[in-house]
Amino acid sequence: MQAHDVVEAAPVPRVPVRGGGTFPVRRVYCVGRNFADHAREMGAAAPASKAERGTPVFFHKPADAIVVDGEVDYPPATRDLHHEVELVVALGRDAPPGELPVDGAAALVFGYGIGLDLTRRDLQAAAKGKGLPWDSAKGFDQSAPVSELVPATDVGDLAPRLLSLDVNGECRQQSTLDQLIWDVPEILHELSKLYALRAGDLVFMGTPAGVAALQPGDECVARLDDLLELRCQVRAPAA
Ligand code: MN
Repeated sequence: MQAHDVVEAAPVPRVPVRGGGTFPVRRVYCVGRNFADHAREMGAAAPASKAERGTPVFFHKPADAIVVDGEVDYPPATRDLHHEVELVVALGRDAPPGELPVDGAAALVFGYGIGLDLTRRDLQAAAKGKGLPWDSAKGFDQSAPVSELVPATDVGDLAPRLLSLDVNGECRQQSTLDQLIWDVPEILHELSKLYALRAGDLVFMGTPAGVAALQPGDECVARLDDLLELRCQVRAPAA
């Protein structure tokens, strides 16, 4: 007999998949400082070579921060909401126990989407200044709009693909994915040292330079070449 829940269980967040079906989200991992040009614009040192890159910066968003209907509310407690356009990796298989080898990591990938790692930059700056965690700057409600997912076999080689973000028709961010400091297999390898990766996990891969403020009413259009498109409008805060 199943024990009864004492509160109603929250629904599992789901992302649509092109061609049919949905992807139920378990966890959302995010990578910080994964493009050298963005690391520099944030005042951090960018590694001169792969040997000097150290270990990636990871943080999380709650799964229910995912937004798939293309509208987000301007969040509370900030006056500096920033966009960060990112490649999103969707895992279709559980990782085997232990450390995942780089050359075995691609087999875990179901497909890809694009997303916005929305950030309360003023709260992040305050947290960084005090050596405190980024959670309230990154993991707030509706902080992770994502596109539909496409199967990895439809994407092929990621390196030459162009990730871009227009806001109100003006290009704010763009970079090819060969500029990632840690590529997808390398990030999955690094994550596997810390966490048991599972089917249903999403990984936001980090953003290139050009992060900037969003205002209520702004219309974001993120693209990965002509393969993926995410439209997202920022609504005025609730009165
Ligand atoms: Mn980010």
